[in-house]
Amino acid sequence: MQKEFHIGERVFLLDEEKAEEAFAAKRVINGRETVFFNLLPLKYQWAYDLYRTMKNNHWEPEDVPMQKDVEQWQSDDVLSDVERWIIRMGIGYFSAAEGIVGDNVIHVVRELVTAPELKMVLGRHAHEENIHADSLLYMISSLGINPHECEAMFEDIATIKRKNEFVMEYSSRLRRDTDLSSIENKQLLAKNIFIFGQCMEGTQFYGLFGMILSLYRQNKFPGIGQMFRYTLRDESNHIKLFRHLLMELVDENPEIWTLAFQEELRQLMVRAVTLENEFIADCLPVNAVGLSVEEFAVYIDFIADRRLEGCGLRALHPGVGNPFPWLDGYQQRTEFLRRTRHRIPEGICLVQCRRRRIVNGAVRGRPGPVAAPSCIPAPDPVERRAFCPGGLIGIESKRHRTAINKDGRWNDSRENAGRGLGPQAVCRRPRR
Ligand code: FE
Ligand code: MN
Repeated sequence: MQKEFHIGERVFLLDEEKAEEAFAAKRVINGRETVFFNLLPLKYQWAYDLYRTMKNNHWEPEDVPMQKDVEQWQSDDVLSDVERWIIRMGIGYFSAAEGIVGDNVIHVVRELVTAPELKMVLGRHAHEENIHADSLLYMISSLGINPHECEAMFEDIATIKRKNEFVMEYSSRLRRDTDLSSIENKQLLAKNIFIFGQCMEGTQFYGLFGMILSLYRQNKFPGIGQMFRYTLRDESNHIKLFRHLLMELVDENPEIWTLAFQEELRQLMVRAVTLENEFIADCLPVNAVGLSVEEFAVYIDFIADRRLEGCGLRALHPGVGNPFPWLDGYQQRTEFLRRTRHRIPEGICLVQCRRRRIVNGAVRGRPGPVAAPSCIPAPDPVERRAFCPGGLIGIESKRHRTAINKDGRWNDSRENAGRGLGPQAVCRRPRR
């Protein structure tokens, strides 16, 4: 018997029995050998969806101008010593941390999980860590910081060293040949996933995120701040990925989720928070404008509890409030779109042409993709796209149609959905 699978815009027909077999053999760990194992049928749909979200957030450091940051860095009266120190600590810590996370994803988690869609999204995760590491390299070279200084920070600042040792303890013990049939080793992997996703990326990254974005809010380091905003957005997907992964692992191996084990995870978070507070004290030896060590301690407690509750664990400080609610806003998608030229989120239509750029149906400016301002995200999966030699002229989904009309303007409508893109959409071929 044949069965239909709907993946995005496409439909696949598969032998149902074989598909069911393959589907049943999919596991987070101890599943079927994956060397020749196809993505389809998807069991962990969230992983594939997340992969697509992450891919749509793609950014490159060179897209972000650093001139203003360099001017500020070189000027004598714009920045205080503490503000410069925060940037040095940020660059010093993340230069090491991004690499550690990427290494753990590739050599531990991606090695040990068996379902291909999980490996796929983990591959993207590792690549994003490369982008983050590359962005730090770009910041270091733009500001003219001696690269050996960063290496020295990693070695010489005790609080950075301790944060890194804390996570490495649970990474070096788990490499590709770990036997995952015992409860102990399954719990070791669960701890690794919890520590990296929730304690490190989820909590210990947030002290510096808060400090650097707080400077950015005061118009200091606009380039670095923008890169950290993108990084923060990526990290929120990494936290989500590792949270889902942990929950699936527990669902499939419920014997690991004992009360004692849950308490062990909470205590790991206590350690992570303590290390983070010590680190913050090193970043902020004296309070700077708008930044106080006490407020950061509250913020870290707030974030840590969010991570714990996300995994179904009891909060450490129930009811603690968020002293930096503005930080949440920096994770939102709309802001992101407005500030970049090349990243086009899913469902936004764009016009691209080799020779010209089309905005609102009119030929304008230099070539390159641009979001059509009158287009709004399609609320359901895009079904059809129409192109002319000048580029995209229309997108139609079940409930929505966006196309260039006869008057040369982009038009969004629900009423026209399903009426087709051919004759209604007008090709505006650019003329030389
Ligand atoms: Fe990262
Ligand atoms: Mn990350």
